Amino acid sequence: MKGVFCVITCFLCASIILAQDSLAVVTAEKGDGILSLLRKQGMNPYDAYDEFISMNIDNLRDSVHLYEGRNYRIPKMNLDTVAIVDSIQKKSTKIKEIVSEEFAIFGKDHATVLSKSEKLKDAVYYLVSGHGGPDPGAMANYGGKSLAEDEYAYDITLRLAKELLSHGAIVYVIIRDPNDGIRNARILEIDRDEVAYGNKVIPLNQTARLRQRVDIVNQLHSKNRGKFQRLIVTHVDSRSVGQNIDVFFYHHEKSKNGKKLAESIHKTFQRKYKKYQPNRTYTGTFQDRTSLYLVKKTHPAMTFIEIGNIRNKKDQRRILDPDNRQALAKWISEGVILDFESGEIGRIR
Ligand SMILES: [Zn+2]
Repeated sequence: MKGVFCVITCFLCASIILAQDSLAVVTAEKGDGILSLLRKQGMNPYDAYDEFISMNIDNLRDSVHLYEGRNYRIPKMNLDTVAIVDSIQKKSTKIKEIVSEEFAIFGKDHATVLSKSEKLKDAVYYLVSGHGGPDPGAMANYGGKSLAEDEYAYDITLRLAKELLSHGAIVYVIIRDPNDGIRNARILEIDRDEVAYGNKVIPLNQTARLRQRVDIVNQLHSKNRGKFQRLIVTHVDSRSVGQNIDVFFYHHEKSKNGKKLAESIHKTFQRKYKKYQPNRTYTGTFQDRTSLYLVKKTHPAMTFIEIGNIRNKKDQRRILDPDNRQALAKWISEGVILDFESGEIGRIR
């Protein structure tokens, strides 16, 4: 009896899969990304991107990557709005025109920013990656190679910038490397050619270095007066306090909006981590005196994110994987959206 039941169930399963198949299920092949998968279905991938993600969210790694060999549901095409080839080409050309001029900073292979939504329209973000120029930040050794904090903080910051831009934000990348771009390598080569926004040479002296970025952010902040503005500082430092905590989000103790930003990102990370391990993120106020200078002197509401410890073996595994850096950036961006959508508290900070 049991056997018969099983056969019937399996038969039903098979026919359901077949039925879905003939409707809108495709199997991801080697090398497929979401965009190429949608394009193969004759769709305009940019129009269907968000819907595809929400339909398949449980089946995506870091909510953006396909698993080879798995089946994916394809959003229904509305025949009235199916883009003809010509308009797809036009659209992508237009994107490239805007992007290659404005976002060359992401590097040749990553310069194109696809518009995913307008969720962050008119919001302004200042992104500061820790250290840079003559100061590599924390250093570590990995299989005979040197790792420098500033390179990893910068890569995550660029990925975050790209995410925020794709949701319509105005983004200022304050520490900039003219030729690094987003890098998909595990070992990020160390260089010293980073400059500060406005092509300014980064001073070696620590106080001068911090003052330079504070001044740049504050000048832009007053230029953008009246807009929703936030500052996000990213480090991959060596001073994590607790054990089993991956990411720290700090804010100024007196800043309600800074606190809300830190907590929004913190909440997003907790949600993402929930499945695997709780308590891997932490939010709190500042203690570190050096960082305090930046936190105290900058005008926009801000959060200071510390993504692990570059000298910690477990953290290295996480930070060296480019997919993980992408996931971290994506999660931060989701927290940033959460923060923006809940609005501003009061008028200052
Ligand atoms: Zn640092």
